[in-house]
This record gives sequence, structure tokens and C-alpha cells, in this order.
Amino acid sequence: MILERQDPYGILRPMASSLLTTFLPERCLVCSDREQVTRGVCNRCRSLIRRLDAPLCEVCGRPVGTPGVCLACLHNPPPFDRMVSACVYEGLIQDIIHQFKYRRATVFSKFLAGLIAERLAADCESPDLVTAVPLHWSRLIQRGYNQSMLIARELSGYIGGVVRYDVLRKTRKTPSQVGLPKADRERNLDRVFTAAGVKGRSIVVVDDVITTGRTAREVSRALRHAGAERVVFASVGRTVS
Ligand SMILES: [Zn+2]
Ligand SMILES: [Zn+2]
Repeated sequence: MILERQDPYGILRPMASSLLTTFLPERCLVCSDREQVTRGVCNRCRSLIRRLDAPLCEVCGRPVGTPGVCLACLHNPPPFDRMVSACVYEGLIQDIIHQFKYRRATVFSKFLAGLIAERLAADCESPDLVTAVPLHWSRLIQRGYNQSMLIARELSGYIGGVVRYDVLRKTRKTPSQVGLPKADRERNLDRVFTAAGVKGRSIVVVDDVITTGRTAREVSRALRHAGAERVVFASVGRTVS
């Protein structure tokens, strides 16, 4: 009421609310609680997110039951040096990623980058460059942003490395991998990515979710082809069977 009388044009109102949010502890983006909130999400909500069960393969990062490098990676070494995922793609994190990707909930980028950073910090990854799996330009226009690139930008603030938007390119539009038969999935991504400007560099590539690992392999092949020295693939979520 007082504010209304003194501020007929409503200029002070946004100032007052921004002052309030500056001094009050931040709210959890998921449950709106103000208790123990870090990077936008409270500890109670964080505790609902499931990490991958160790031991994990040192190369592909899958939970394999025994420490070291899994048989699949030994017999057929992947084109990346390492692949790490912050958590299992299910429940709350699946909902958050969905909102983040399709409903413009970009406020989660710091939180999601933080989850990856916590995972990478344990292994002292400190790359020259940080980038993300690219979208085809038509998809980028349609969505308005590359969700993985938003995470990459925040991630470089935590682990170091220069963010690069231009080292990877997706040369053609591909139908979603979900539900495609294996042979079609292989053809679907065949030579669809190109890379440049990475010679001799160590690079971290961000993806939101890893399912088959096919995209990671194709992107890594392109980076290797362009002379990248070390390729680490990092995702927020991973599907586990
Ligand atoms: Zn919460
Ligand atoms: Zn492996």
C-alpha cells in the first residue's frame, strides 16, 4: 500500500523485490525451499539424484562391477580417452533435463554444470578447451539455444579451459536416435560431425545425456581426425540398463 502511494509508476516495486532476493537465501528451483541451496538446488532434492555405482570403467565410465578398463574398451578402444557421467538418467534429473532442454528452463545450467564439475574434479581434468555436441543450425534456430553449450559455458568456469562454440559442426539434420534400429542408428550419424581448430589440444565435450554412446564416438572421431590430443566426453545423465 505504502509503496503504491509513493510509487504510482511502479518503478520502486522491481527494485524492492530485487533487493529482497539479494538478501534472502536463494530458493531451490525444484521445491522452492530456502534450506541449504547450492547452485539453485537444495540438498534434499540433490539427495534424490542417483550417481552411477562404482566401480566404473576407467575409459567408458560404465558401471561394470570390477575396477579398471572394461572388456569392451580393451577389445575395441573407443575414439575418446574417457567418458564420464554425473548421474543416472532417471527420476528428478530426467525431469530437470527435460525442462532444461525443451521448456527453456535455462536457469538450471549452473546446477547441471556443477554436477559434471564435481565428477571431473575428482580426476583433475583441466582441459585447454571446453565445448558441446553441436546441434544442426536448423534445430538451433528452432530451439533458440544449444542446451549442452549452456552447460559447457558454466563448466569452463568451474574446471578452466576456453569455451569454444566453433570447433564442432553438425553437417546435416538427423532423425532422433531413439527407437531407431541399430543399423539405422549407425547410418544416421555416419560422418555427420566435422571439427577444426583443435590440433594438439585437450578438450572436454559436453552432452546432456548419453544413451548408446554413438554420438560421443562420432564426435570424438571428428575431433581426433582434426588432431585433438585428448578427448574427454562429459554428460549430466546416462541411461543404465
Ligand atoms: Zn529442493
Ligand atoms: Zn569401458
